[in-house]
Amino acid sequence: SDYRLRKIDTAETTCGFCAVGCRFEMWGKDGDSLGVMPVDDPDDAPANNFSTCVKGKFGHEFANSENRLTTPLVRNESGELEEATWDDALDLVAERLSEIRDEHGVDAVGSLASSKGSNEEAYLVQKFARQVLGSKNVDNCARLCHSSTVAALQQTVGYGAMTNRINEDVGEADAYLISGSNTTESHPVLATRIKRNVRDGADLVVFDPRKVGIAEHADQYTRTTPGYDVTWLNGMIRYIIEHDLHDEAFIERNTKNFDELKEKVQAFTPERVEDLAGVSPEELASAAETLADADSVVFGWAMGMTQQRTGTENLLAMADLALVLGQLGKPGAGLSPFRGQNNVQGGGGDMGTLPGSLPGYQDPADDAVGEKFGVVWGERPPEEPGLKVPEMLAEAREGNLRGMYVVGENPALSEPDVDHAGAALAALEFLVVQDIFVTETAEHADVILPAATSPEKHGTFTNTERRIQRVRPSAEPPGSARQDWEITQALAERLGYDWDYDHPREIMDEISDLTPIYGGVSYDRLEEGEQHGLQWPVPDADHPGTPYLYDYEEGDFNFEDGKARFVPADGGHPGELPDEEYPLTLTSGRVLYHWHTGQITRRVEGLMDHVGESFVEIHPEAAAELGVADGEYVRVESRRGEIVVKAKVTKRVGEGTLFIPMHFAAGAVNKLTQETFDPQAGIPEYKISSVRLEALGAE
Ligand code: SF4
Repeated sequence: SDYRLRKIDTAETTCGFCAVGCRFEMWGKDGDSLGVMPVDDPDDAPANNFSTCVKGKFGHEFANSENRLTTPLVRNESGELEEATWDDALDLVAERLSEIRDEHGVDAVGSLASSKGSNEEAYLVQKFARQVLGSKNVDNCARLCHSSTVAALQQTVGYGAMTNRINEDVGEADAYLISGSNTTESHPVLATRIKRNVRDGADLVVFDPRKVGIAEHADQYTRTTPGYDVTWLNGMIRYIIEHDLHDEAFIERNTKNFDELKEKVQAFTPERVEDLAGVSPEELASAAETLADADSVVFGWAMGMTQQRTGTENLLAMADLALVLGQLGKPGAGLSPFRGQNNVQGGGGDMGTLPGSLPGYQDPADDAVGEKFGVVWGERPPEEPGLKVPEMLAEAREGNLRGMYVVGENPALSEPDVDHAGAALAALEFLVVQDIFVTETAEHADVILPAATSPEKHGTFTNTERRIQRVRPSAEPPGSARQDWEITQALAERLGYDWDYDHPREIMDEISDLTPIYGGVSYDRLEEGEQHGLQWPVPDADHPGTPYLYDYEEGDFNFEDGKARFVPADGGHPGELPDEEYPLTLTSGRVLYHWHTGQITRRVEGLMDHVGESFVEIHPEAAAELGVADGEYVRVESRRGEIVVKAKVTKRVGEGTLFIPMHFAAGAVNKLTQETFDPQAGIPEYKISSVRLEALGAE
């Protein structure tokens, strides 16, 4: 047994699936990752203590898949991908990207960073885009998940992030309002906390078009009509003010614009709420009373709220509601966006992989900020905001964006109306994809660079509660696959920039130098004494981190005057409404066993055994009317395309609504979704499309 033990590597690390940020000990053998077990000291795993979910426990097997990319691939003259040396592949990328930039200008190139990689890797992708390519076009898939949350929270409370902690606050609230979050399947360990607290007496109110798993535990579940969240939220605020249930002292002390809000919500009468959002006056009143009665309330949401034309407006209304009730800056309370990917908070936002903001959400147009970066980078980053993901694809279709560097993203399957997105990728003159598998996007690539995945890297992830935690390897990348930071650095070098990092810890030193909210973060601290991570803002090396953003008494909202802003929300109608031709409303989402476009989880047998193919949920009444039996294949069609999937007859969805998961390439839901975007955040309206369904009578 001594012999066997010697060959096993263990490392305390952070889960690479979702943004709950569970920590565990991962073990590997001979370069492969084998499994996970709890950390010795539960205090070192603040989000989960000893728990993990099925993905965290069994899902890492994907890293050992025989389909992993092990060598660079370059497309040859006959259009086939063939193996190449690193030198040849990197030379080609450097040559083609600089050619495009020199001939067509810096706006002709774009970069996409990954929300799955580490903070250090994401930081380097935006540095590569801005410094090396000189381009302002850098974005990432957070555009597609919580960009509307960030936009709304920045306007109302200041920081675009969760205001509280998972364990101590979300786990201990007196009451919850959860909407647009399939918490049980998307954030399992977080859902377990909530369910336990509800079992112990906390009140759970769930408003959602779909009776998701967490709704089974609710004291009140209300089925809403997709697309009218501002309506019921404003209606609830109206009820609260009208019945004098608002926190007047808090509003007076810590907020601005209350009168404007009061005026705006007047029009959201109970009749209007019932008519548009499908919420009865009794349901609205009872939810409002429950929330107003509670000492502490957590407002939880995910993509059911964000992925709409009115995504930002939805979350403005949610923030307004929390402020009206004074439920911020105290234990058990707060605005809690449940972020999706392991590092979407950090790599997808904090690190400045966004077209309009530098690391730490700093404004590139601010001279002091620009000069600070100029000193460290040798030149000032572009000041203007660049293109968002959907805009990059639109410009590619027009022939204006010609070259792209895509790291760990799969827009070919994740964008709305994927046929349209595929056409954009095909139109590019040059596409380089850095990833661990040949994804649907990599199929369009001219060069594919094989990268490492979470059980193979050193770095940090920032979870949904802003906690920066260490990631450590227990396995090695296969073949000649390399660390992402090394690949980006090698590309920079070929384009004339000698970055000279030897380890991700040095990248973090640069991040903390330039990014005030990460100012006191270092690997030394995360290794010694702060293994449980640090919650930003961490302004300096002596600062212990910030469990709560804001303060119930003092306010301390992230504005110069410290006051939160009520920003009245308008709402409106979805981009596509059901009609005679397409009478049903389609919504999409996740299942427990899979992850996003499925590139990772579709390669894990144990997960495929649970859910092995796409499906469509349909209400029993609608199924009877259309002559559809459970388990039969049906055709679902929208104005964009059609797919054939298995019918699942269930009362989880309402009569006029269908649900299809987003993880599958065969029966891809995004063949049907539409390209309506939130005007403020640019997030696509994945959650609402009009479709029709036809029975095929085939099993
Ligand atoms: Fe990983 Fe999220 Fe599951 Fe925790 S809840 S083990 S972070 S996938």
